[in-house]
Amino acid sequence: MAAGQRPLVLAYHAVSSAWRSPLAVTEWTLRDQLQHLARRGYIGLTFGEAERLRRCGGLPERSLVVTFDDGWSSTLRAKPILDELGFPGTVFVVTRFVDSGAPLSWFGIDNGRDEDTHGEYLPLQWDDLRRLHATGWEIGSHTVTHPLLTTLDGDALAAELTGSRSRICEQLGSCDSLAYPYGVADERVALAARAAGFAGACVLTGAHVSDTPYLRPRVGLSEADAGTRLALKVSRGGLALRRSPVARAIRRARGRRSWQPPAQGD
Ligand SMILES: [Zn+2]
Repeated sequence: MAAGQRPLVLAYHAVSSAWRSPLAVTEWTLRDQLQHLARRGYIGLTFGEAERLRRCGGLPERSLVVTFDDGWSSTLRAKPILDELGFPGTVFVVTRFVDSGAPLSWFGIDNGRDEDTHGEYLPLQWDDLRRLHATGWEIGSHTVTHPLLTTLDGDALAAELTGSRSRICEQLGSCDSLAYPYGVADERVALAARAAGFAGACVLTGAHVSDTPYLRPRVGLSEADAGTRLALKVSRGGLALRRSPVARAIRRARGRRSWQPPAQGD
């Protein structure tokens, strides 16, 4: 392994051919994107496996982590596609919804909900997660209720992190990884994640370029990422460019996405 080797960590949400949403990719697109990486020799790992190998220096030259945020029931549509390509998945769930079975609901995803798409909002259930876990998928935390963690006081922050982690541990025996809601964390939140017992955690927005165990970056892929655009986005050069000062400046100028709640000072 080369020194400083990084895994390529992808972030997805829902998987649906019937639901037109920035949060959903079709099965066809998901297969197309992952086939692109399989053909390039990427080896699939869970988020936790990649983290462990990275720390002991055993990360393969080209390693891929495929993550799914929120715990949409449509994540199950990804399972046969990942199986076909030999990649495990990592799903980060919002435990209150797994417990209640209520449709997913928080700032940024309630717009455009109607009769036709109601079923798309249903959460994965504990039985689904047990089955995924039994076949090598990792089940991580995405907090209890999906708040913007940077706006919470210390007690509320700790409750969101430890509450979801202990619930997943009760149901599945372990919970080592965390994805921050809205992909957003700062140093205070990262320290709280460590204190809550997670071994690693990941962001999604480009707001953070530090690559430390509790602020691991991910690349979000959407329906539009195909062909040359996809090839560039996941190429070594493309990934290095995303970490450059110019790219950071562009992301800052672009500002908050519509699905992200306003932060203090936003
Ligand atoms: Zn989320």
